[in-house]
Amino acid sequence: MVSRPRGPLKEKRLSTRQIKIIVEKYLDGYVAYPLGVKGVVVGEGDTYEEALADVESAIKFHIESFRDNVLEVESPEHMTIDHLIIDMDGVLWRGAQVIPGAPEFIRFLRQRGIGFVLATNNSTRTAAQYQDRLAGFGIEVAPHEIVTSALATAGYLATQAEPGTPVYVIGGDGLRQALTEKGFVLDSQQARYVVVGMDLELTFDKLRRATLLIRAGAGFVGSNPDKTFPSEEGMIPGAGATLAALEAATGVSPVIVGKPEPIMFQQALKRLGATAATTAMIGDRLETDILGGQRAGLKTILVLSGVTKASDLAASDLKPDWVFQDVDELRRKWMWA
Ligand SMILES: [Mg+2]
Repeated sequence: MVSRPRGPLKEKRLSTRQIKIIVEKYLDGYVAYPLGVKGVVVGEGDTYEEALADVESAIKFHIESFRDNVLEVESPEHMTIDHLIIDMDGVLWRGAQVIPGAPEFIRFLRQRGIGFVLATNNSTRTAAQYQDRLAGFGIEVAPHEIVTSALATAGYLATQAEPGTPVYVIGGDGLRQALTEKGFVLDSQQARYVVVGMDLELTFDKLRRATLLIRAGAGFVGSNPDKTFPSEEGMIPGAGATLAALEAATGVSPVIVGKPEPIMFQQALKRLGATAATTAMIGDRLETDILGGQRAGLKTILVLSGVTKASDLAASDLKPDWVFQDVDELRRKWMWA
């Protein structure tokens, strides 16, 4: 609060809207709320210039305090976030469109030295294919900064079985390639594990083969539990739908690797060299990103740029630690820390 000697003046408070206008004028668009400058006191009868000078001083004071306290204005936990696990679809892009501000967000993280991995439940593509897709959106990342559920599944299986172990795969190139790169052998007859992801060429024959293998004792692993997958025409069956069919036919529940189960989160943390306590998950889905992040002991950040609307959040029992419209808003607030 800033005060100057004056006569006895009745105090009044600027409205949030008035402050916002002034802050936008002086601070290049950064709104008042994150700076905590609601309710700056000015004297009644002040000229507009005097009011501006007061508000400007108050804002400068709050910025200094904000910097000193590293975002304590909003929440003290923000101080401890030095790694991020970032969902991609609905966070960095939506459909064929980049989310505005996503490239700047990734550059901001690099400038800040905040380590991150991009993590997707989609097992159909390889890390290199995601790298290309991101480059098309102006987002430059290295393959080692991308974890897909296919890579995580192969990583998990490598902790369970020796290289050379035969596996039967229902899934796309991303899953097949990840498994063969870990030394597993694709074999529909002798397989000791049935590994299931989303398969755009799913047939009854594949379901039959997988059912017979699982009933004969093969391990049953699913890359991700998503029952549906968004397409241009609407929702179509995802990996979870195939897993449900096989579960019904065998009575066996699969080990699930992707979000919200902990395995992919654990692998992402290992890759980051990070602990859960100093890492946050950013995603657009409550039931995978936020639930999974919470189960893994991470802080969680929901962005409303994907499938979850504010009304969905209000109706859900799942409460993320922070909510932003998109990663651009997160960056603008975070940059004051
Ligand atoms: Mg998403």
